[in-house]
Amino acid sequence: MDLDFSGILLTVSDVLEHLYCPRFTWFEKYQMLPEFQERRAKVQMGRSLHETRENTNRSYLRKRLNAVDKRIDVSLVSERYCLRGRIDEVLFFQDGTAAPLDYKFARDPGLIYRTLRFQSAIYALLIQEHFQCAVSKGFVVYTRSSNAVRTIDFTPADFQQVGNVLSEMLNIIQNGHLPRRAPPSRCVDCCYRRICT
Ligand code: SF4
Repeated sequence: MDLDFSGILLTVSDVLEHLYCPRFTWFEKYQMLPEFQERRAKVQMGRSLHETRENTNRSYLRKRLNAVDKRIDVSLVSERYCLRGRIDEVLFFQDGTAAPLDYKFARDPGLIYRTLRFQSAIYALLIQEHFQCAVSKGFVVYTRSSNAVRTIDFTPADFQQVGNVLSEMLNIIQNGHLPRRAPPSRCVDCCYRRICT
């Protein structure tokens, strides 16, 4: 996956908002209406990660996951993927692989949501490129469920889907392609609803 975004760098929030409604990309990145930025996806993403860490014994967690090294609060940029992201932790393992670890100030929902899988796959791409190592899984820690850890095992389809979405965003940003609408239930409290026809 090599993309030509001509210097554009998308954040994980940008991508997740696009998943919520691709027209957010059109309004914000093509029509340049960033003043409308009160959106559900951002609110969902906006939990302070710092507050999630306060009561978490991170050393214990890493040992539990058999990590041999770690980096904390890692900001990465990829021109190749046109992405930038800030990862709570990057764990390194004996076999030379690495994995993103993400803290959520939430209860364990019992499953991995699609958006979370997507977010973790994006982090995996950033880690792979920056640290030049394989990333086959990601971890999510739910601090309100006694630090329950969920493992995401990535498949080639996960990375393919990220590439497809990034290409779709590129098409909107560079060509002004007006994307499909979101399902009507998502429009009810959308800040763009008055101008979205
Ligand atoms: S009104 Fe609906 S279709 Fe339009 S941007 Fe908002 S969520 Fe998307």
